[in-house]
Formats: sequence, structure tokens, C-alpha cells
Amino acid sequence: MFFGKAAVIGVGLIGGSFGLALKAAGLCGRVIGAGRSAANLELAVARGAIDAFEAGAAAAVRDADLVLVASPVAQFERIFLEIGPALKSDALVMDAGSTKRNVVAAARKGLGDRIARFVPAHPIAGAENSGAGAASAELFRDRRLVLTPLDENSKEDVDTIASLWTALGARVSRMTPEEHDGVFAAVSHLPHLLAYALVGDIAARADAAQLFGFAAGGFRDFTRIASSHPEMWRDICMANGDRLLRELSLYEKKLKEVGDMLQKKDAAALEKLFTDARAARERWLNGEYQ
Ligand code: NAD
Repeated sequence: MFFGKAAVIGVGLIGGSFGLALKAAGLCGRVIGAGRSAANLELAVARGAIDAFEAGAAAAVRDADLVLVASPVAQFERIFLEIGPALKSDALVMDAGSTKRNVVAAARKGLGDRIARFVPAHPIAGAENSGAGAASAELFRDRRLVLTPLDENSKEDVDTIASLWTALGARVSRMTPEEHDGVFAAVSHLPHLLAYALVGDIAARADAAQLFGFAAGGFRDFTRIASSHPEMWRDICMANGDRLLRELSLYEKKLKEVGDMLQKKDAAALEKLFTDARAARERWLNGEYQ
């Protein structure tokens, strides 16, 4: 498995890390980037994540054997429409988007009959930092990666993409796009929404300065992900709104139960909730679900 030329559209945390990891693994000749910010692309070159960049996505993918789209997900349709006609006939295309149903729909629209060679992928390897400056060749190591293959994909192409991510250190799973969006609404998108909502609520209060002044480790841990990129998370929440609303209402139901425990001064119920939740988290931390 070797790609003479790889193109990365959107050379931020994920795209930049992909370029660094691909080169470190010796799996490609040249990596060419395209993006929205020249300063970020120059930084990506300086850090060795890409060898050079082009002014547009279509120019970047010309003659590429492998293409990764790693911009915020609302940009995907525009990017697929732009690169579709410029792709080499045997180019393999994948993405790194955090949502999958909308990405697949965008790819069908933009790539047309080239859709068979698009294998959707989501590396579960994020961070709250963004941009090429935050990229790392090790970002995907020992992290999970979900492929949501399409009916049109050949087994060979899906296996190639799976082997590629495995070579970058990831542990590859497969799901349908629907299953993917349901799972990540629960364990990724909802926590981000809650973190942003809590910080936003505190910040809007008249006594915000005092509250932030005394906020400590618990607040820092709970809200770390509210430092994530707002555009990226806006796009994810918009794209997965239906699944997110379902998770939000389940969470509201749980909060209502907790509120009732407090109202009724039911210490035993509260303690049982905390004990069970702590035990579940311990099992998760101990790798029981991997
Ligand atoms: P990032 O902000 O670090 O990088 C995104 C890059 O895309 C930026 O450099 C930006 O300039 C560029 N870009 C924006 N619009 C573009 C366009 N129209 N054409 C070309 N480039 C464009 O974000 P990231 O964390 O690297 O996320 C990239 C993708 O990976 C997103 O789809 C996100 O959902 C997904 N993802 C993120 C994480 C995470 O936690 N950060 C994890 C897994 C997947």
C-alpha cells in the first residue's frame, strides 16, 4: 500500500495529523494540501504535514491517488462538488467528518458516479485544539476509527482504507452511517452541547466573575470540550440535530429524575445513582468496552 500523491482538503488538527502520520509511516510520496487560510497552510508546510498547497481543492486533488476531506462538515458538499470532476479515475477518497449521514449525502451529490470510491471514515481521535499547529503524527495511535462503508464500495477499497488507518495506529470498526450518528450523538455530541451550554449559562449571569473566580478542577474537567472549535461543533450539531434532540430529551428526563430525588430529599436514590455511575465509568476507563 503506497500512495504516490495524497491530497488533504482542510489541513487542521485532523488533516494535518493525517499528513504527518502518513509520511511518518512512509505510505506516500507527496502530500498536497488545500484550505481556507494561507497562514494555516504555511504552518502545515513548516511542520511537515504537507509538502505544498494549492489555492483550491480541485487543483490539490489533480493526479492524487488518495484524498482526505477534513474540513468542518458543512463544507463537504461544496468540496465534493469542486473535486468531483478533477479526481483521477482511480483516486480513493475518504473523509474524517464527525457525522456520517450528511457526509454520505454530500458525497453522493458532489461525487456522482465516483461515489463507489468514496469510503467514509471518522477517526475518534479529537482534541479541543484546532489547526495545523495542533497536529500530531501520533494522534490516531491506539484510537478507534469508524468506517461507514457504502453499498457501492468494493471490498478491496474498504479493506485498503481499513489497512491504511490501521497502519497509522488506529483500531478500525465498521457501522452504518445511521448507527454511527446515533452512537456519537450520545457519547460525543451531547457532552459537547452540555459543556458549551453550562459555560454559556455561567458566563451570562450577573455574578459570572465571582463564579468563574471560584471554579476549579471539576468545572475545568466538565467543560474542557467547550474550548473546541465553534464552527466545527455548530456544523456537527446542525448535521446530527435529530439524533442530538433525542439524546437531549433522554438527558432532560434523567435530570428531572435527579431533581425529584433532591426535591424528595431521597439521599439513598441519589447515592445509588452516583455509585452505579461511578462503577460504569470505572468499567469504561478499565477498557471493558473496547
Ligand atoms: P480544524 O479546525 O483543526 O481544521 C479544519 C480545517 O479545514 C481548517 O484548517 C480550515 O481552514 C479548513 N477549512 C474550512 N473550510 C474549508 C473549505 N471550504 N475548504 C478547505 N478547507 C477548509 O478542525 P479538525 O478538528 O481538524 O476537524 C476537521 C474535521 O474532522 C471535521 O469534519 C470534524 O468534524 C472532524 N473531526 C474532528 C475531531 C476533533 O475532535 N477535532 C475528531 C474527529 C473528526
